[in-house]
Amino acid sequence: MSRKLVKILGYGVDTFSSEEAVDYIATHHGMVVTINPEMIEYAAKDEKFAQIINSAELVIPDGVGITVGLKILGHNVHRIPGIDFGKALLKRASKDGKTVALIGAKPEIITKAVENVKQEFPDLNIVYFHDGYFDDEDTIITEVINAKPDYVFAALGSPKQEFFINRLKQDLNKSVLIGLGGSFDVWAGAVKRAPEIYQKLGVEWLYRTLSEPKRFKRIFPTLPLFVIKVLKERVIGK
Ligand code: UDP
Repeated sequence: MSRKLVKILGYGVDTFSSEEAVDYIATHHGMVVTINPEMIEYAAKDEKFAQIINSAELVIPDGVGITVGLKILGHNVHRIPGIDFGKALLKRASKDGKTVALIGAKPEIITKAVENVKQEFPDLNIVYFHDGYFDDEDTIITEVINAKPDYVFAALGSPKQEFFINRLKQDLNKSVLIGLGGSFDVWAGAVKRAPEIYQKLGVEWLYRTLSEPKRFKRIFPTLPLFVIKVLKERVIGK
């Protein structure tokens, strides 16, 4: 199975179904980026970050802004929410007898998330976990590398998690490494996912923004600006 990428504002996005994406990364290893418009905006200002995204082994369309943008450009791509993809990877890791590390979220959250994950996947071998509020990143990086996990789940928010994963990539070059944003808060049961109707319509961000209005500044003006840029790309090409 080989990658079939479509481009948006110069960034490649994979067009695999969720099942294909799991199969692909489980057999190829490397970094998985769960891309959204905020990340593309950030990459425009940070060359290093852009490089990290461009060198990922798999880029899944996490944000609804991405699938809408791709649609404007004539590509019908299914959204793969990072949180669901993370679960699918845990399931695969458990089935394949692989080892897993989870890093991120507040101490009480990661503990609870690990507890819930163990309950859901009793055979899963979790070899390392740590909260995401550490002062000494070097120590955590060394600990993760020494644990040699086959799968690394980093939920530190973007772009922190992508830079963190980038530091692990070379030493863990046979592992799957993925950034999962606020997923551990949901896995711990501390944050509720949007009701199904919001999930179906691909507007979980709207629910999250309404229930946590301080998030508003994260999507505004980024999302409308992103759509304008994509429209421009469609008209004048890139
Ligand atoms: N976080 C962390 N370390 C930090 C900052 C954030 O572990 O230094 C965690 C935070 O507790 C939350 C996640 O990273 O669990 C970020 O969640 P957010 O919803 O902001 O990320 P998004 O999914 O929107 O990228």
